[in-house]
Amino acid sequence: MRLLLLGTGTCLGALPGTVARQPPLFALELGAPGDASRTLVLDCSEGARFRLAAAGIEASRVAHLAVSHPHADHAALPQFLQGRSCDAVVRGAARADLALALYLPRASAEDFTSLLRWHEPENGGRTSSRWDLDLVAVDDDFARELWPGVLLRAFAVSHGHGRSPAVAYRVEAHGRILAYSGDSGPCDGLVRAAIGADLFLCEASAAIGKDLSEYGHLTPRQAGEAALAAGAKRLVLTHYHGVDGDDAMLADARSSGYAGDLAIGRDGDVVPLA
Ligand SMILES: [Zn+2]
Repeated sequence: MRLLLLGTGTCLGALPGTVARQPPLFALELGAPGDASRTLVLDCSEGARFRLAAAGIEASRVAHLAVSHPHADHAALPQFLQGRSCDAVVRGAARADLALALYLPRASAEDFTSLLRWHEPENGGRTSSRWDLDLVAVDDDFARELWPGVLLRAFAVSHGHGRSPAVAYRVEAHGRILAYSGDSGPCDGLVRAAIGADLFLCEASAAIGKDLSEYGHLTPRQAGEAALAAGAKRLVLTHYHGVDGDDAMLADARSSGYAGDLAIGRDGDVVPLA
């Protein structure tokens, strides 16, 4: 099992003086590397299909996709799903091979069915008729077994002034635990998601010393505080702008008192979890 970091940046692209990094996209490979049918993708920003392909994962064969919240830098879903439709039509891929379980916070799942109708005028009212979509509404304390021994959980977190239907995800797989914050301010749900995590992939999109708790983002220090409270073994910071230097970010995270493994995520990093 390994986690591919395919987007550790934000919606902004590169700010002056920073390294260009892509918006949020992560692939948890539970089978052989490149086996999309045994891959869970976490968040789905623009260009996800192409970045997955560059990492050796065929996007149209990904079996499970879990989106943290409906902001566009996490949920460029029409593009991702159109690729799957084209695979069915143009390449004649088998319907069973294209089946996808898509996990969305409940309010977003209810909205999403309207997006699927964009092609209705052309296809006689049939929506996503060429492949199978299992649209799963996710609430706080959601849990579902994706494969034998692999459990996906979700916890409501505070984002968008507490009004975004945002969740953090937790994957429990063969005795190992991955937690992913999505976008969140300091809150109980964030800590609950990361309790005892072997790897806590946590956003740090607020600049050092800039308190965006009310809106729902974390400074590196606040990410460290959540990791400390959760007893996470390893903290990897992601979804950061890069305006603060690496050393400053690491020091700010350490100022929380968190003493576990600590790193700053980079696009292209592969983190083993087995
Ligand atoms: Zn975001």
